[in-house]
Parts: sequence; C-alpha cells; structure tokens
Amino acid sequence: MSEKKFLKNESVIPFIEGLAGGRKVLVPVCEGDAVIYRPYRKDCRLELTRMPTISPKDATFPRTETLMTFKQAPVAKTEGDGEGDSDAQPKLELTETLPEEKVVVFGSRPCGARGKSIFTRVYETEDVKDPYFIGRRDNTLFVSIACAAPETTCFCTSVGGGPADTTGSDVILIPVDGGYVAEAVTEHGAELLQSDLLTSGADKAGEAEAVIQKSMELLGDADDFSIAREKLIELFDNDEFWFDMSAKCISCGTCTYLCPTCYCFNITDETAGKSGKRIRTWDTCMSNMFTMEASGHNPRTSKANRLKNRVGHKFSYYPSLHDKVIACCGCGRCIKSCPAAVDIREIVKSAQEYEDVNE
Ligand code: SF4
Ligand code: SF4
Repeated sequence: MSEKKFLKNESVIPFIEGLAGGRKVLVPVCEGDAVIYRPYRKDCRLELTRMPTISPKDATFPRTETLMTFKQAPVAKTEGDGEGDSDAQPKLELTETLPEEKVVVFGSRPCGARGKSIFTRVYETEDVKDPYFIGRRDNTLFVSIACAAPETTCFCTSVGGGPADTTGSDVILIPVDGGYVAEAVTEHGAELLQSDLLTSGADKAGEAEAVIQKSMELLGDADDFSIAREKLIELFDNDEFWFDMSAKCISCGTCTYLCPTCYCFNITDETAGKSGKRIRTWDTCMSNMFTMEASGHNPRTSKANRLKNRVGHKFSYYPSLHDKVIACCGCGRCIKSCPAAVDIREIVKSAQEYEDVNE
C-alpha cells in the first residue's frame, strides 16, 4: 500500500464535494431506520459510523438497468405504388446502452467492496464478458471505511476478508481520533488522495493498526468453513435436514436483495407501440417463481430446496468452480435483516457438524 495520509473529520464533506467534480458520488445516508446509498447532496443525512443496510452492489450491478432499446424500422416502400412492400419483414433497430457514468462510492465497508470480486469471476471470464457489469465496475471507484466496531452478525474473517480488507477498494480509510488514516490501494485511489485536504498520516499509523487489532479481537475466532463444500454435497438429498433448516424462512427474498455477492437477474422486454427496451433486474433464488419453467414445471417448489440452493451455491458449488473462494463476504446483512432470524452461519455449521444417526 501507499503512504499514509490523514483526513480530518471536518475535511470529510469538502473531500466528498471535491470528488463530485465529474463523478457521481454515492454516500451512505439515513432514511428512516435504514442506511442507504444515495447520490451526495448538501442536505443529506450522511452516516459513516453504521454499516449500511443495503450493500453497494447497486453501483456496479443496478437493481434495474436498460441493456438496449429497440424500435421497428419503417418498412421500405415499393417503387411506384407509394405503399409499403407487403412481403417485407419488419426490421428492428437495436441501440445498446453501455454504461458510461463515472461513479465514486464513498463510505462502503470492505466487505461491500469485496462483493464485486465475486461477480468478476462470473461476469468476466474467458468465455463470458458482460459489458454492463465490466463497464460499471471499471467506471466506479470505492473509498471504503475500515470497520472499527464490527457487529455480532459480522463474520468477514471466516470467509477470507477482514475489517480492513482492501479487495475491491481504491482507497481504505481507517477511523482514528479526529479523522481517518487514508491509504491508496490502486492508482485511481492515489489520484483521489492528491487532494490538499489531506495531510501526512505517518504519525497516526500506530493508532490505525491498534484500531484494526481491536476490531479483530471483537470479531473473535474465525469459523472454519473448509469442509462445507463436501458436507453440503453430502447433504444434498437429505430433505429432513433442509426442511429443518428452512422451517422459519418466509421466502421474502430480503437476504438476496441485501447481499453484496448475489448476482442473479431476470431479463424483460418492455414495449410501447413500436419501440421498447430490454431491461435486466435483480432476481432472487428464494422466490418460488425463480425456477418456474415455461412448461409450468418448477424444480424447486419447496423453500427447503431454495434455501439449500442459496447456501449450497455460496459455500459449495461456487467455491468448487472458483479456487475454493466462498461466495459470501461475511457482511451479515442476510442475518441482521432476516425477519425470521435465519442465520447462514448456523446452517453451514450445522451441515459441517451433521452426523447421520441412522448410519
Ligand atoms: S431473509 Fe430470511 S425469511 Fe427472507 S428469504 Fe431470506 S432466509 Fe427466508
Ligand atoms: S450471504 Fe449474507 S453474510 Fe454472506 S455476503 Fe451475502 S448478505 Fe453478506
């Protein structure tokens, strides 16, 4: 990492306003009881101490985005009669709408910024290049705030992250007395820290280290999820286990919508007259409709099967395909906001500890 700089508390707003030159700046703001990312406005209720309720994934993977627009081209006229050629097939004119907007997410948590690395393994491969995700990811910078006070629902250290993890961030800010120690993670991050509002933070390095050390202590011992891949496969056909684990679930989908690593979507064409647009929208595997086929057949009718898919995907199927990387960054949003108190950590631990009494 680069040299340490210091951003005083009173310089945070001027720094954010400086970022806004040429970029949209998303910041966490209070709305009711929730903390939501919104474009920065002078009168917004900025909240930098609480973990945002939603993840910042909307910045790189919007909940709804237009992939292209289309309209029916005029049918060519036949020479002489002034009428359209009745045999001609109508043609569609397509216009792709690639993302170009430059964005900075200020005040994400390290786990939220890490989420896009899970997307990259799926949306930017040798065979698949998703220009919408890649475009937004490359146009979006993350200025993340390290976690000084993790919550009881946090478990980033159990899934490869940490309170000052820099994966996916361009700048990391560590809260210390009077402000933040700022370090650039990428070249773009270093450019952001060129601001005159920052001073040298060399003398604050020890304090910043102590903050992260304290945070690690508060997180406690990391859980070992290394045998989850095999155990979840072993339990694939154990209906009793999954009915038990999903008994409380009400299939609301909150867990997937708040998750920084859930990347499923649906595609819809919306038309008005002879024109329209193709839109992509977040989808949730916790919905009964997610796997509904056109024939009417649905391979996942029970919530037990749907929860098995969600947990199995994150802790078994995805890691098996992607160098054992778990598709969860331990942010705990799905635990904290689940109306039925379903805890993904407990499900994985139960799977790992499961012993078949009939064997
Ligand atoms: S948030 Fe909880 S109740 Fe809602 S779908 Fe997820 S696990 Fe089920
Ligand atoms: S599964 Fe839960 S804890 Fe893991 S990244 Fe998603 S919301 Fe966070």
